[in-house]
Amino acid sequence: MIEVSHLSKTYGAIQALNDVSFSIQEGEIVGLLGPNGAGKTTLIKILTGYLQPDEGVVHIDSLDVLAQTEAVQARIGYLPENAPMYPELSVQAYLKLMADLRLVPVDQRTPNIIEAVRATGLEDRMTQPIGQLSKGYRQRVGLAQALLHKPKLLILDEPTVGLDPTQIVEIRRLIQRLSQHSTILFSSHILSEVEALCDRVLMLMNGRLRADALTGDLAASGEVVLVLDGPAEGVQPALAALPGVARVTPEQNRDGYPVYRVYGEKGEDLSPAVFQVAAQSGWPVRELRDEVRSLERVFNELAVGEE
Ligand code: ATP
Repeated sequence: MIEVSHLSKTYGAIQALNDVSFSIQEGEIVGLLGPNGAGKTTLIKILTGYLQPDEGVVHIDSLDVLAQTEAVQARIGYLPENAPMYPELSVQAYLKLMADLRLVPVDQRTPNIIEAVRATGLEDRMTQPIGQLSKGYRQRVGLAQALLHKPKLLILDEPTVGLDPTQIVEIRRLIQRLSQHSTILFSSHILSEVEALCDRVLMLMNGRLRADALTGDLAASGEVVLVLDGPAEGVQPALAALPGVARVTPEQNRDGYPVYRVYGEKGEDLSPAVFQVAAQSGWPVRELRDEVRSLERVFNELAVGEE
């Protein structure tokens, strides 16, 4: 659905994007994660045809965004970071206007508006001026306008920014529902949000793509934690000698049990080999588990690598 290759963009001396490549398949829900200024909005503006890259090519649904911008935009529902709205218009009037501007065929306008309103739970707000809505409801209106032409792909730029916790939960649920019918790419700087919603994560830092992985794979650390019931002989050298093990660090846990943290070389699953050597050696095993990294930890590790 999205093919991005070797995208670069500078604003004067600022390199907003630096040789970014990735692809997204139909039906995926992908989070674009990065701190402020990482290049997320720049990337999204290029994907949606609102900004030209200095270098690189983007294909959406096999169409070249630069050469076939209108056809591409007809396939995308786009929620910009600060969606422009008309505060004096009612929700209904605004959605009608947007359906006109999107050139939704006349006979499909009313059914499409009804569907978008249902999908975003705006049924009882239709006559209210947009300026009188809460931020959460305004964001729903932004999402509704993005759905009017029944796009195959939804691109949402920080859809929960500025919302209170209840509104954030509502918008997340909404995104989850929408993902049943569309491919979704959304940007965020909130790690837990991406972790909760996405199959896959793209991490941008300083304009470079630092990670592109399934959420579960990023969380897998390649570390195994072995907790023993009491002391045992030769544990550290035996573990360190296992194939694929980079290093082993002994620790003491809070209850005084000996703990060994086993770090893999390439992130492969080491627990079967650790289990086997423990059983063969007769160590009193209390616990053996794979360490799961939070996205926050991944993010911090990548950020340290950037410094
Ligand atoms: P945020 O989370 O703060 O919205 P972002 O990841 O979306 O950040 P961008 O808005 O794409 O990041 O900005 C990337 C870099 O490019 C930043 O250093 C920003 O200051 C710079 N930048 C963005 N737009 C312009 C512009 N029109 N002119 C000059 N510099 C810009």
